[in-house]
Parts: sequence; structure tokens; C-alpha cells
Amino acid sequence: MGRLRPGHDPGGLPVHFSETDSLLQETFRRFALERLLPDYLRWQSEPFPADLRRELAEIGVMGLSVPEEYGGSASTYVQLGIAAEELARGDFNVASFLQLNAIASMLLGGADESLKRRWLPAVASGEATIAFALTEPEVGSDAARLRTRAVREGDDFVITGEKASITFAGYADLCLVFARSGGEGARGISLFAVPLDLPGVSRQVYPSPGGRMTSRGSLHFDDVRIPADHQIGAEGTGFIGAMKAFDFNRAVIALACVGAAAQSLDETVEYAKNREAFGRPIARHEGVAFQIAEHLTRVHAARLLAYEVMELADSGEPHTTQAAMCKWYGPKVSAEAIHACVVLHGWPGYGSDLPLMQRMNDVIGLEIGDGTPEIMKGIISREVMGREYTAYR
Ligand SMILES: Cc1cc2nc3c(=O)[nH]c(=O)nc-3n(C[C@H](O)[C@H](O)[C@H](O)COP(=O)(O)OP(=O)(O)OC[C@H]3O[C@@H](n4cnc5c(N)ncnc54)[C@H](O)[C@@H]3O)c2cc1C
Repeated sequence: MGRLRPGHDPGGLPVHFSETDSLLQETFRRFALERLLPDYLRWQSEPFPADLRRELAEIGVMGLSVPEEYGGSASTYVQLGIAAEELARGDFNVASFLQLNAIASMLLGGADESLKRRWLPAVASGEATIAFALTEPEVGSDAARLRTRAVREGDDFVITGEKASITFAGYADLCLVFARSGGEGARGISLFAVPLDLPGVSRQVYPSPGGRMTSRGSLHFDDVRIPADHQIGAEGTGFIGAMKAFDFNRAVIALACVGAAAQSLDETVEYAKNREAFGRPIARHEGVAFQIAEHLTRVHAARLLAYEVMELADSGEPHTTQAAMCKWYGPKVSAEAIHACVVLHGWPGYGSDLPLMQRMNDVIGLEIGDGTPEIMKGIISREVMGREYTAYR
């Protein structure tokens, strides 16, 4: 049994890594630092190359959550977390593939066999990218009020509406779309697999200070016709089923943020040992060293919480509260740590030769994506105090 000792992290996690886990950690760390980090800033202005997607597939990243019979490795949640943390050290946005592929594998689990055979092997080999579309221009946190419609016409469904702020909108091949096929509220919502090369689909990519590699944007569905067997799961169960299954993703996000912060802190430790001010390395000024110590402490606490979620998910135990905790805490302490690293580097920190500003912009995006801090705190209070004390339902 190995123990996690990434960078300047003190070690001693309650998670005991198996030999396979430690090997994965080493492999992903090396790939992140050698293959991803040197080009991290490039993908803010150039498209993420298909070759690199395939390379990620070759080292097993794309198929981590895909069942073995469809070409994946059916990893544990802890392993998914290791991948998120380690790869984010090189390129924070690569963790979006982990998130979306895990969500797609889970949702497509309830789909028609032909859909699974068509899409899951393509996800695992890095040939296909899948998006997940819940948010709309008018509804985000209260997604159960969504307006996109799916109307049954003979053997088809016809989808109409706009989905907003969708990761991979610019180049996804398939989108898992939540649409209203019944009445008001969550029980009127179903889930549909919509290939994005169909007539009536159009895309609009947003300019964005962070996460440009994920080509986030809007997807417009203008009378898009899909076969009825592209509905996933039973009528009206799409929303409720999906929401229950996704707690683990909050820890994936937290660990990606932790990875970006841990890498920034590692870089800052080295910088502080070498940069001199007032006749000595800045690391010998307590004002510098203590800041680093505090951020290492908070980032480590976020890491522990996130791996606890993954362990609970692996053992099939409830983890909604801890998942909501790490989703607000992880991105927040990570963004704060990276902010401090920017300032501790002085003027070069605020430039585009170093990755620090980009990391901060990327991490802040995921303070919002998959649920804001306020919504997470609402979940925690609901779980602790009871549903009757929630301000919203
Ligand atoms: C980088 C990124 C990637 C994303 N990727 C996807 C994706 O792939 N697919 C997808 O479907 N969506 C995606 N989203 C959208 C994301 O899930 C939503 O932005 C998020 O759920 C919040 O919704 P909203 O932006 O509409 O904010 P709103 O719901 O309009 O909220 C605005 C503000 O009000 C606060 N607020 C709302 N209700 C309450 C309340 N009851 N109590 C206290 N405060 C409240 C919120 O916390 C927030 O600060 C992404 C967003 C980002 C930034």
C-alpha cells in the first residue's frame, strides 16, 4: 500500500493508495508536467489538437470511467480523482474530459444498447467528445424550470430550445440534453442523446477569460429530430436520476482545482527559494513563507475532503454533504492560493509567460460550473438541518 505524497503536500492522507493507484499517480504526474504543462497556455488561442486527445486516450485518461466491455478501464472513483488532480497540474482544462466522460458513461448506462456501442468506445479512444446540457439562458441554479422542449412525433422526438454555457459546445459530437417532454417541474424533464451533426443544431462559442480549450458556449436546437430510442431512461426520470448520480463530479472538480493550486504552490516554493529581496531569498521573509504555509494547509484540507468523497463513492456510501462541501471549498481555497502565488512572483506572476493567471481564471470558472457556492451551502444545510429549513426547493 502506497501513500500519497504529491509535491510539497505533507502526505498522510486517510486514502491508502494501492500499487495501481500509485502507478497511475506517477504516470499522470509525469505526463502532466512533460506533455501538458509546456503547451497549457497555447490552447487559449489554438484548438486543442485531436492528436493530444488520442494521446490522452492511449495513457488511459479518456476511458477511465467507461466500462471494460466498451473499451474503458472502469476505474475506481479514487483513481478518477487522482487523474483529475495530477493532470490539472499540467493543464487544468484536461480534467473537463474526465468529468464529461464520467458523466456520459454513467448516463449512457441507462441508454439503448445501440447508443452505448456507438458512443462509449469512441469516448474511450478519444475519437468522440460528449457534452452535457442542462443550463439555459434563463435557468441555471433552478434548472428544474428549464424550457427546452422534446415533443414526440411518431417514432421521433423533436427538440427545440437553447442550452447555455455548455462545456465542449464548440466541438462535441454528441450532447446529452435535458428537455421537457412532460409537465412543469423536475418530473416533466427527460434526457435525450442528440448527435450534434443533425440538421437544426447550431453552436456559438463564448469568448472567455478561462477554460477556452473547452470551447464553452451555447447550443441551439431548432426542431432537431431524433429517433425515439435516443431518449435515455424512462419518461420523466431524466433530471431526478441524473442529479442523484453526480455527487462524485463535485470531488473531481475540487481535485482538479487542488492540482492546479498544488502545482502553483510548488512553483512558488522554488521561486521563493531563489528570488532575493533585501539581501536574502524571499522564502526567508516570514511574510512570504507563512503565506505559503497557510495556503498549503488549506489546499491539503480540500484534498482530504475530496478524496473522502471518492472513497465513500467507491464503497457505495452516501456522500452528498461532503461532495457539496468540497465543491465550494476546493475551488475557493485553490483560487485564493493561486492568487497569492501570482503576487508572490511579483511582476512576472501577472504575465502570460507564467501559467499562474490562466490557472486562476480557469479555477474560478469551476467555482460556478456544476453549481455555485451558494447552492452547495444550501445542499449542506438541507442535509444537516432537514428539508423543511431550506429557503428553496
Ligand atoms: C466554466 C463553466 C462550465 C460550465 N459547464 C456547463 C455544462 O457543461 N453544462 C451545463 O449544463 N452547464 C454548465 N455550466 C453552467 C453552470 O452549471 C451554471 O452557471 C450554474 O449552475 C449556475 O447557474 P447560473 O449561471 O444561471 O446562475 P444563477 O442561477 O442565475 O445564479 C446567479 C447567482 O445567484 C445565486 N443564487 C441563485 N439562487 C440562489 C439561492 N437560492 N440562494 C442563494 N444564492 C442563489 C447563485 O449562487 C449565483 O451566484 C458551466 C458554467 C461554467 C462557468
